[in-house]
Amino acid sequence: MSIIKNYLKQNKVTHTFSDCQWPIGDPQEKDFHFCEAETLTGKPYCKEHCDVAYIDERELKKEKEAQKNRRIAA
Ligand SMILES: [Zn+2]
Repeated sequence: MSIIKNYLKQNKVTHTFSDCQWPIGDPQEKDFHFCEAETLTGKPYCKEHCDVAYIDERELKKEKEAQKNRRIAA
C-alpha cells in the first residue's frame, strides 16, 4: 500500500480518471463503452459530455442572469 502511495506522490497523480467516464450505449449490450476522450481538468468527463452533464447547472445560471438583466432593464 505504501508503495502505491509513494508512486502517486512521485508522479503527482491527483485524480483517478484521465479518460471521459461518460457511458455510451446500453450497459446490457456488448458494444457498451465509455467515451474515453480527454477529460477537462477536475472533471470526470470530456468537454462535450461536461456540456451535457452540467446543462441543468448552466440553464439555472442563464435563468438567473436573465432575471438580473430584466431587473436592470426595468
Ligand atoms: Zn466524453
